[in-house]
Amino acid sequence: MKILVVDDSATMRRIITKNLNSAGYDDITEAENGEEALGKLEGIQLILTDWNMPVMDGLTFVKTVRTMDAYKDVPIMMITSQAAKKEVIEALKNGVNDYLVKPFTAGTIAEKVKGLAE
Ligand SMILES: [Mg+2]
Repeated sequence: MKILVVDDSATMRRIITKNLNSAGYDDITEAENGEEALGKLEGIQLILTDWNMPVMDGLTFVKTVRTMDAYKDVPIMMITSQAAKKEVIEALKNGVNDYLVKPFTAGTIAEKVKGLAE
């Protein structure tokens, strides 16, 4: 399964990728903002994206992906510290399939990714 990890924090990308590797997912592509991610969508089967990023934030990225015929059904999980109910609802309304709040455990991310990958 080809997974795209989008986050402006290199440390966070490293943690997420490491957790995915431990869970058995080893085809990981990284991008540091939504705009860079849009150029790396080819073949991607699952997207994990941060919300707050410079250049193009996660919500704008999700909205853009959902307008693209080839990627409108790709599962997307938002991983962010924006845990307010209002934000979660807005994300889900705009096409996010699942939501993970930072900080998270290796077990939680593995479980959620497994759920989305099935
Ligand atoms: Mg960020």
